[in-house]
Amino acid sequence: MTDSSLPESTGADVAAVAREHSRTGRSAEALRRAVVDHLRYSIGRPAAALEPSHYYRALALAVRDRMQDNRAVSTQTSLDLDSKVTCYLSAEFLMGPQLGANLLNLGIEDAAREALAELGQDYDTVLACEEEPGLGNGGLGRLAACYLDSLATLERPAIGYGIRYEFGIFDQEIHDGWQVEKTDNWLDNGNPWEIAKPDVSYLVNWGGYAEHYTDDTGADRVRWVPGRVLKGVAYDTPIQGYGVKTCNVLTLWSARAVKSFALEAFNTGDYYKAVEDEVNSETVTKVLYPNDEPEVGKRLRLLQQYFFVSCSLQHILHIVDDLADLSVHELPQRFAIQLNDTHPSIGVAELMRLLVDERLLSWEEAWEITVATFGYTNHTLLPEALETWPLTMFAESLPRHLEIIYEINRRFLDEVDAKFPEDAERLRRMSLIGEDNGKSVRMAHLATVGSHAINGVAALHSDLLKGSVLKDFYEMWPERFSNKTNGVTPRRFVGLANPGLRALLDDTIGAGWLTDLAKLRGLENHVDDPVFQDRWRAVKRANKARLADYVRANAGVELNADWLFDVQVKRIHEYKRQHLNLLHIVAEYQRLKQNPELRLTPRAYIFGGKAAPGYFLAKRIIKLINAVGETVNNDPHVSQFMKVAFVPNFNVQNGQLIYPGADLSEQISTAGKEASGTGNMKFMINGALTIGTLDGANVEMREEAGAENFFLFGLTVDQVQQIKRDGYRPSDYINGELATALDLIGNGTFSHGDTEVFRPIVDNLRFDDPFLVCADFASYLECQDRVSAAWQDTGAWTRMSILNTARSGKFSSDRAIAEYCDDIWDVSALTVL
Ligand SMILES: *Cc1c(COP(=O)(O)O)cnc(C)c1O
Repeated sequence: MTDSSLPESTGADVAAVAREHSRTGRSAEALRRAVVDHLRYSIGRPAAALEPSHYYRALALAVRDRMQDNRAVSTQTSLDLDSKVTCYLSAEFLMGPQLGANLLNLGIEDAAREALAELGQDYDTVLACEEEPGLGNGGLGRLAACYLDSLATLERPAIGYGIRYEFGIFDQEIHDGWQVEKTDNWLDNGNPWEIAKPDVSYLVNWGGYAEHYTDDTGADRVRWVPGRVLKGVAYDTPIQGYGVKTCNVLTLWSARAVKSFALEAFNTGDYYKAVEDEVNSETVTKVLYPNDEPEVGKRLRLLQQYFFVSCSLQHILHIVDDLADLSVHELPQRFAIQLNDTHPSIGVAELMRLLVDERLLSWEEAWEITVATFGYTNHTLLPEALETWPLTMFAESLPRHLEIIYEINRRFLDEVDAKFPEDAERLRRMSLIGEDNGKSVRMAHLATVGSHAINGVAALHSDLLKGSVLKDFYEMWPERFSNKTNGVTPRRFVGLANPGLRALLDDTIGAGWLTDLAKLRGLENHVDDPVFQDRWRAVKRANKARLADYVRANAGVELNADWLFDVQVKRIHEYKRQHLNLLHIVAEYQRLKQNPELRLTPRAYIFGGKAAPGYFLAKRIIKLINAVGETVNNDPHVSQFMKVAFVPNFNVQNGQLIYPGADLSEQISTAGKEASGTGNMKFMINGALTIGTLDGANVEMREEAGAENFFLFGLTVDQVQQIKRDGYRPSDYINGELATALDLIGNGTFSHGDTEVFRPIVDNLRFDDPFLVCADFASYLECQDRVSAAWQDTGAWTRMSILNTARSGKFSSDRAIAEYCDDIWDVSALTVL
């Protein structure tokens, strides 16, 4: 150990060894010195000006140093041992705050706490300074982040590839009950986690035309003459595994102008035109597009997708050529490339272009490599969410890729025709080019044809895929299809989010559960132990008190932590049916109004979630939640039994407070609409009971937990389809408490007499109701009454809560990633020493 009083790092070489140690040491003392070092050399503010945010950045840099050390060894080991690498291509990575997770994974939380204390800083205050990188909309982006954590923890070499959006998902504020969007300036105070690599950069073409020519050997060749050229620059963030040395990387691409491209403008004296081009180039990675918005062929969105995919594939080929010294024919043996939904699916055509046009491989060779390398994960069955691009726009943007897609399609349809002769209708359905309302390129078809493995994200979803949107493809290649049920990382969603539960679990079943979540089964031995039950309840009570504090500060609603906490947090969408939840609340309100003697089970209804800025009805649903809340919370009688709170700006950070504080998890989507869900799993692991439909992963959660520990309601997928076939009429279901609830919402009860503001919601439910809210209402109400009754028996509820956690092991992203590695990627563990 070094003498801590040594004024090290002052330029003298007296403490050369100590300097080294402050980059990598794990003790509190080494960390303290590292923080002091970074405050002086990386932050550079006078002592009197130092605030917690400076300590945050200094500590983050100190932690990054430790990860970079592991990262260097990980990369070298992977290259030395010729290991296979997973490349996870995703337009979104919803990482959440990094500091706490990295300290946990490095095993230096206590050391950091102590180091900060010695410097007079409070750990929680310092950690709270981090601005979360909101580079995703919701579940899909968060899944990618959980998968990176599991890949590193399972010691699988992996690279995440995505887009470094300058503005992530908007910050949501609530003004007068309405959602107001504010730009997310997450980079304003810099990002201590990333390392800019200006020398790791690639050119990306756009527009122009494809030129066919004959080369010296007489072969037909194509070169793409672009209308525009951009440059992508890499920013690398280390991804540390838990309890292991493995440290992977997330590479995000940022767009820059190409200087030489603007030269002409300089020559003709048009300096301002050149600067303008530069500014335009950089807009490519400016902003994350919200999903759930009726997308009208946004050219910039296609450019974003192509931009990050092209950079990523060029980077992979650079590793093949220059670092690993491989032949491109070995690509599938050394790299597995996974397409997270269709957003990166242009990669299929881009890899073909790189191999055929630039590496001069034959079409057949290139196609074999491409299909063997790619895998495709489908995330939705909603037809309106399947990506297609208008053909004319696509042709103007990616002329060479369109030619390649036509050729893929020609050969593919020949294959279909050989297998299913004289079936013109099938050819039309399966074509990569849609003819329905104007010609379009079907990205899900491109991803499917170009991949050797296609998977859905929950058992039910994978089955429905094979029977609906990808049915023809399943009939063509049944062996390519499999299911990979989603999972979430227990490190972030229990280890970090629920320290009380973490301590209780460590104490009861030992610490192994954090990397082997199936070990939670050990809790079943304690489920009837009254002492353990008391401790279980105390943990949940403390989490609820913590959540109540947050709700008071951020939603201005006072909650009683002894009440049942009923929580629905997720993107606001009609298919997720926040309005069904609201109808139950209004029905309870009405019951109390009608019968003042009624002693309802007291409940706190907690909502959170963002609506896409252009999604009219979703934004109105937020207003309705807040309006019902205002009425309920301010009614002296009603508010003795119910409160309604909308937590603004639901994100990973406040999610970590919300999931552990829930008693009841609302997973109430129309059956067949939610591919899997992952929020449902976060709640379950943290001991909430679920009220839910047989949709997505709910089905498997109920199987694991046991039907007696799950509140099931609602129509099944088959029943939903039957009702739709028969011609659904909401009016058949609107009677009794549902009729009254709709009347109250429509007649201004919650809107100071305004009968217009909620008319769009009421009319939608009365006359259209595409997500069968009315058809499921009676079943939901009856089920909620069972929930209220169950809550009265504290012992029985606690038992169910324990069993939900005990049986949640399947929903670890470690299980999911192990399945991807074994069944799709063929990537094995590589121990880094
Ligand atoms: C887990 C998570 C989601 C996904 O929630 P679902 O309930 O599965 O839709 C969305 N947003 C955030 C911030 C999350 O952490």
